[in-house]
Amino acid sequence: MPEAAPRRPLVVGNWKMHMTVAEARSYIAELGPLLPGHEAVEVGICPPFTALAACVEELRDSEIAVYAQTMHEGESGGHTGEISAPMLTELGVDGVVLGHSERRRDNAETDRALSEKLPAALEAKLRPILCVGETEAERDDGDTERRLRHQVQEALESVADESLPDVVIAYEPIWAIGSGRSATAEQVQEAIGFIRALVGDRSAPAAERVRVLYGGSVKGENAAELLAGPDVDGALVGGASLEAPELAAIVAAAARISA
Ligand code: PEP
Repeated sequence: MPEAAPRRPLVVGNWKMHMTVAEARSYIAELGPLLPGHEAVEVGICPPFTALAACVEELRDSEIAVYAQTMHEGESGGHTGEISAPMLTELGVDGVVLGHSERRRDNAETDRALSEKLPAALEAKLRPILCVGETEAERDDGDTERRLRHQVQEALESVADESLPDVVIAYEPIWAIGSGRSATAEQVQEAIGFIRALVGDRSAPAAERVRVLYGGSVKGENAAELLAGPDVDGALVGGASLEAPELAAIVAAAARISA
């Protein structure tokens, strides 16, 4: 049997509603020199919409990818304030975060809408990062797997089996986001192994190839432990990614694990 292709680790910094264009440019100038020697790890940043074009321009000759933080499922239309996949592709953006829990909370983003956003992103050649994760109450009630199953199955419903490996999934327990209280390494591996098995219910080869990240209070100091599980393919990083040296430290930890 041929050996399964290794999954390249991915570390993505989600800046959320931070960084002006000027701040984004100086962040990129700082991050670049901190990263050489980490080719084993794919790196991305998610600036706010207003800084996307500047980041694409600054990173034109770099391996660092640029992701948007959300998009609408339609191509165009009467959706004031929204941005479509073709608009992002035109800017030179590489991917898009979909279903972040803050979008689900603040903008009522639903699994149903996500089931349309994922194919729209793939169609436009954007790499989607689908965020899923349970609330603290759901974990306490033993409902984590039920929640993850529903989110993963519904969001991926309209993605063809052969396109599943083009999707990145981020397991982000809501209680660990921005709280300074990360999940334990065991909880991370267990949930991510479960998510991989859910993809396996659709396609075993896709489950081998799909990358599943952890997100929730990852920092330079805890990354090595949190990302060590065999099913964990990297991190989606919020707060800590606002400091270039912290993001670089997480990339370095991911590189050491994959070496
Ligand atoms: C996030 O917003 O995706 C995230 C993981 O945030 P933080 O790292 O700040 O917990």
